Amino acid sequence: MGGAGRASRRLAIRRPDCHCHGHGHAETHLGGLMSWPGSAASGWQRDDPRAARQPALSGDDEATVAIVGGGLAGLALAYQLTNHLPGSDILVLEATEVGSGASGHSTGIVGPGVGGPITTLVKRYGPDRARTMFGATLDGIAALRRLARALPDGCELTDGFQLVAASASAHTGSLRRQAQTLRELGFDASYLGHDGTTERLGTARYHGALCYPDIALINPWLLVQSLRAALLAAGVRIAENTPVTGLTGGDPVILTAGGHRVRARRVAVTTDGFTTGLGLFTRNVAVIRTHVLRTASVSPHLLAESGWDGRGAAIDSRSFFNYLRLTARGQLLFGGGPALLEPRVDERGVAAVRARLVRELAATFPALADVPVTDFWSGVTASTFDRLPIVGPVPGQAGVWFAGAWCGHGLALSALTAELLAPRLAGVVGGVGPAPMPDLPWMRSTASLMPTGRIGNLLLAGYLRGLDAVDRLAPARRSARATPPALAVPAVPTPVAPAAQPPAAPATEPPAAPVPGAAVPGSRPVEQQVDVVIVGARVAGSALAARLAAGGLSVALFDRGDLPTPTLSTHILHGTEDLRIEGVYDTVVALGVPPLHDVRVRLDDVELHFRHPDNPGLCPRREVLDQVLLDRAAAAGAKTSTGTAVVGLRRGSDGTVSGVTVQHADGSVRDVSAQLVIGADGRNSSVARWVGARQYLTTRSERALLWRYFTGVRIPPALLWHRIGVHIVSILPTGPEDFVLIAQPPEHLQGELAGRDVAGFLRHVESVSPAVAELAAAARPVGNLNRIVRYPCFFRQPFGPGWALVGDAGHAKDATLGHGINDALRSARGLAAVLTAHWGQPAALSSGLARWARDRDKTELANYWYGQDIGRGGAVTTMERAILAGIQRDSRAVGRLDDVMGDRLDADRLLTLPRLVGAVAHRVTSGEPASVVGREAVDLVQLAWARRRAATRHAPSAP
Ligand SMILES: Cc1cc2nc3c(=O)[nH]c(=O)nc-3n(C[C@H](O)[C@H](O)[C@H](O)COP(=O)(O)OP(=O)(O)OC[C@H]3O[C@@H](n4cnc5c(N)ncnc54)[C@H](O)[C@@H]3O)c2cc1C
Repeated sequence: MGGAGRASRRLAIRRPDCHCHGHGHAETHLGGLMSWPGSAASGWQRDDPRAARQPALSGDDEATVAIVGGGLAGLALAYQLTNHLPGSDILVLEATEVGSGASGHSTGIVGPGVGGPITTLVKRYGPDRARTMFGATLDGIAALRRLARALPDGCELTDGFQLVAASASAHTGSLRRQAQTLRELGFDASYLGHDGTTERLGTARYHGALCYPDIALINPWLLVQSLRAALLAAGVRIAENTPVTGLTGGDPVILTAGGHRVRARRVAVTTDGFTTGLGLFTRNVAVIRTHVLRTASVSPHLLAESGWDGRGAAIDSRSFFNYLRLTARGQLLFGGGPALLEPRVDERGVAAVRARLVRELAATFPALADVPVTDFWSGVTASTFDRLPIVGPVPGQAGVWFAGAWCGHGLALSALTAELLAPRLAGVVGGVGPAPMPDLPWMRSTASLMPTGRIGNLLLAGYLRGLDAVDRLAPARRSARATPPALAVPAVPTPVAPAAQPPAAPATEPPAAPVPGAAVPGSRPVEQQVDVVIVGARVAGSALAARLAAGGLSVALFDRGDLPTPTLSTHILHGTEDLRIEGVYDTVVALGVPPLHDVRVRLDDVELHFRHPDNPGLCPRREVLDQVLLDRAAAAGAKTSTGTAVVGLRRGSDGTVSGVTVQHADGSVRDVSAQLVIGADGRNSSVARWVGARQYLTTRSERALLWRYFTGVRIPPALLWHRIGVHIVSILPTGPEDFVLIAQPPEHLQGELAGRDVAGFLRHVESVSPAVAELAAAARPVGNLNRIVRYPCFFRQPFGPGWALVGDAGHAKDATLGHGINDALRSARGLAAVLTAHWGQPAALSSGLARWARDRDKTELANYWYGQDIGRGGAVTTMERAILAGIQRDSRAVGRLDDVMGDRLDADRLLTLPRLVGAVAHRVTSGEPASVVGREAVDLVQLAWARRRAATRHAPSAP
């Protein structure tokens, strides 16, 4: 040993929550951390009780390298040092027993990633550095595999996949982007839609998942115990029951442990969640306690019933996620839940976590709900603010290195760090100079400050509770395997900005046409070349993409939003046919969306009741429907990119649209070339604006549309639509205990509801329809009140050179009618049929498109006007009431009205001239002045003529 070097600050163990120092307190602290409820020996430990402890340090000692902490990080480092410093004196000092920290309590999922989602890393560090960081974590998995394979008993090491599963529909967009970013960076990752995720895990609880195809699973207790045995065999000394209580840097470094002093050339501190107890990084890390349940072995039969084959592992997408895997003995490990902040852990909090884990396990795998939970344990880990570890020399402590604060990723990263750090320490002590550490952001001597002290702890605990509350507010899709209503789609309380549509794309003009085929100015690389680009991945865009991809076309589907999100739309799907044709009806119903067999309409004092026993309507929340359709498009082979905005068009020299310019989430801009660009981007379509699509028969809704989601009350599975005086309210069940309440005051009265709270909104509903308000009375509101006003209704020329428009981008009716989704699916089907039939035959394609455009207008026109009429801002007119009374007297006509409302019949097949004449006659014979009634009738006939003339004048022409 060299003589004493530069004196360093002396550190002593202390309780983080008191100011006492010294050995006794250190014991208290460490013992305290380990004796909290739930912190018992892990199930792994109980399965394989360890050998007798190694003796504690019994006197002063010396070592070449001393390692403080006998978890995986410390043991793996010692193991690597035996290769680099054969025969030298390595001493591991462990406070209690080897592996009894996080390592022996962990779940053994050796997955990739650190520091948050890859998209965050790209934003924060740039793509190259993000690639290096993520690549290092993959190296960590490889390092752990190497380590385990080098040990005699294999440690139950298996290979598998890992899913990061979306527990909320709102999380799917981010996971999708992560998968895409990873692929762009050259890594193997994919996004699985709901069905793919269900197939992998057997639970329908998740909306989709990011899939890492190649991770490792291990029994971490066996790993540390095997390491311990290998180290002892290699001559490494291990002192257990030996907490280090003081540390003074220098050469040598002086450690105090059990009242003895240890002099070491170099010291590595690998104490992760216990580090603040050593007085290190007390202001830079938070100590988090996390919990795990373990069940008895699941029989193969029961496992098959759960729908999971037991392979792989999953964590979910919440801040405090669940993690799950099956052990080699067939026990289910199910952990996570709200992390508890040390030292603020109490029995009540732990009991609540346990109860929640039991609940969530049952919700995830209903078939396994009755399998007994045999073990419950917890462990502590250290986390930094930026969720990156700390691996570097300890400031102010010469000769001391720290490796830890793994932020929950310790298995892979400990193994990697051991491989990297061992040659460095060996180089220093062997006199050959330090081997360089790789340039990774967590190779550092500290991390940014965290709130500390009592107040800081309170703040952090509050922050964690806040994150958990946000998680809990997000929608959790429950298992579709059990029958509703118990397992239904709960309301989605996403705070929705009261906006009609996502704002229009940045006002980027279509790029000027340069030379034919050349990239637009800015010489961006053409990233992709496809047959068809579809802009907008909601109902029309996704349904179309699925059909085109299935028809053999290469399709790129872009949406700037992090789909799926709530959006302005009708929520009503009239009848099952459209969804059955799209092949998603069963999926949507399985997700808990209740079929609605009844429609109850009230127009002032006229009440109509329609029953649809065989063809019920559905009101799925848009997040649910959009996601199901998007998944289907991806499954059909469309390349789907959400969170990617199309910001302009590419054109050939003759003006023909030849592709798009897209902006990715990281801000990078790329070109995608395509033979056809289809705008499925809604009423405010940017594509329509850029191509200058002619708009005709334009009107504007005279009503505002205000809607709010509610939950917690089981209402009858019926759609109620009440128009009383000038007001309209409706209630649409979106789940067994969830519904959306819609008010449509005339536009000039909508100000009365401006800024209204829930009570105000409900009072308005009650003033219009006590029956509707009564249903809503006991429910809880979810999210904000949403509102749109002055939205336009129109037809647009639906195709031109290199472009087409589908869904609301091409034609949009008054929302009062609630035909939007059916219309969008119909127009997508029509366009898909033309494109797949005539692709590659320009002449046939062009005439097919012209026919499709004409058919669209013919099909939609009558109900377009009808929507205008029933959405008009005024009260029901006397003539309308008389016509309705006539319909009511005629059961066939009632059926027709039902068909018109359900988008199965054109309104002009119901509202015929004879019906008008009948209403006129009825009014006149009831004593109304013939001149007044006659004038109203003439007005109506004139309006019908004017509309017909307008339609003829504006008929779509081949562009
Ligand atoms: C419930 C749970 C599940 C987890 N699941 C996973 C997972 O699936 N995948 C994954 O990658 N990570 C997981 N982790 C995190 C992972 O276990 C840790 O990141 C990793 O094990 C940390 O290893 P370590 O050696 O740095 O720390 P630890 O294993 O905690 O070892 C630190 C050791 O230092 C000792 N010590 C402390 N103070 C002193 C002192 N003063 N003197 C001497 N010795 C001292 C302790 O007694 C302990 O043995 C999980 C953690 C928990 C708690």
